[in-house]
Amino acid sequence: MRVGVVGAGVSGLAAAIELAAQGVSVTIFDPEDPGGRMTTRDLGGARVELGPDSYLKRRGPALSLIESMGLPEIYPATTRASMMTARGPVPVPSGLLLGAPRTISAAMGNPLMSLGAKLRAGVGALLLGAFAPGDDLGRITEARYGRRWARLNIEPLVGGINADSIYGLSARVSAPAIVDIAKTAAPPTSLGGPAFAAPESGLSTLIDAMVERLQGDDVDFVKQSCDSLSVTPGSVRLETETGEFDFDQVIITTPAYIASHLLEESAPHSAALLRSIDYSSVSMLIGSTATALPRFARELSGVLVDRDLRLHSTAVSIYSNKWPSRVPEKKAVLRISTGSLLDRRHLEKADDDLVEILWNEACQVLSTDLELEHRLVVRWKRAFPHFAPYHPRLIEHVRRSTASATGGRVDLAGAYISGSGIPTCVAVAIEAAAACAERASRI
Ligand SMILES: Cc1cc2nc3c(=O)[nH]c(=O)nc-3n(C[C@H](O)[C@H](O)[C@H](O)COP(=O)(O)OP(=O)(O)OC[C@H]3O[C@@H](n4cnc5c(N)ncnc54)[C@H](O)[C@@H]3O)c2cc1C
Repeated sequence: MRVGVVGAGVSGLAAAIELAAQGVSVTIFDPEDPGGRMTTRDLGGARVELGPDSYLKRRGPALSLIESMGLPEIYPATTRASMMTARGPVPVPSGLLLGAPRTISAAMGNPLMSLGAKLRAGVGALLLGAFAPGDDLGRITEARYGRRWARLNIEPLVGGINADSIYGLSARVSAPAIVDIAKTAAPPTSLGGPAFAAPESGLSTLIDAMVERLQGDDVDFVKQSCDSLSVTPGSVRLETETGEFDFDQVIITTPAYIASHLLEESAPHSAALLRSIDYSSVSMLIGSTATALPRFARELSGVLVDRDLRLHSTAVSIYSNKWPSRVPEKKAVLRISTGSLLDRRHLEKADDDLVEILWNEACQVLSTDLELEHRLVVRWKRAFPHFAPYHPRLIEHVRRSTASATGGRVDLAGAYISGSGIPTCVAVAIEAAAACAERASRI
């Protein structure tokens, strides 16, 4: 029984680990080093993350797999954030979940809001079990907490995480916890400790550990891109630049637009549906400085930027405050993000121009002049899937149509299926691998 896995990001590696654990022979294809978007680098003596910097600690198979790698874990040293508004920086209040108040007191303690907006949101927070209409996060949160609350609290946070706007974003995929609160006020499952964690030396070490485990399990790595996929009655064939590989089953874990290309011939309807999933691109300036940060910023994890200010930056994350053990003493490291589904200005800027714009904006947001010492511009093209309302229904169609067109020989996993958080990607991959191993055992 042989299974091919296309893509060696965290989804592909998790799928391969699950398959290998079930005794299946696995080959993974990726033209790049394993890890996909999970990349840790050195910058002027600091260990910095170019993509994700932590994962949500929610109990489930994904967390079990991550913990089974046995890596020492660290937690953000601070989670206090601030919001840059036209009035200057305002602390982001505690007691909110992704910007949504769960209680009337959480609504009333919000310094960003006028009394009227607090009362409006406070009443919304009391409406236990009320009907939450549709699946558009912007509309659901407006109906529940008021327009101003949605725009100033939920948009910068959930919109920022998804490089998108909450308007036209699937609530069930991008913020299921808010839907839970909006529908039943049921608190989301929590482990009781810190909400986010990361391996001490960065997420690349998690990837290294996963690869090491797979090598121990005799999984083959082929450092090539899969250019096409075809299904015959007895097998699935993957073609690379230099050869053809036949498998009983294949799991595609690439972004949707690559999966669409691969399925063009054998599952054209799925390919068309997958092509309809849009992606946003983001860029990031990671910069270090030896200049001391101003007092108000010394314990902040970062500053969100109100979109009405029309800056390029969406957030200035103070990486050295969040992960002090990875940064030399007396140095500060900032990660300044720009770009979203609608804001593509950064794509037209050369690296040097982007550095100047983003560093100046960071100085403006932090109300100080910081001398830029080391810098790295990271471009994440087509990085975040756009989850339109009712996205789960689209995926259901894609899966059904792929299974029927390929005789159940091709499975799909990846960030566009159920959400782009690392634990969700891992859980989706494990599920696809378990289903695949089960089917393969019947062949
Ligand atoms: C800037 C940024 C910050 C983020 N922050 C967080 C965070 O803090 N926490 C969090 O949980 N998540 C975060 N995410 C999301 C998370 O990083 C991703 O959703 C997750 O890493 C996706 O993993 P994946 O394996 O599904 O896809 P990818 O990492 O995209 O891997 C896909 C792999 O497929 C390979 N591939 C592509 N085409 C082919 C082909 N034809 N043949 C073979 N291989 C191919 C690629 O080379 C790549 O290695 C962030 C993402 C970004 C971009």
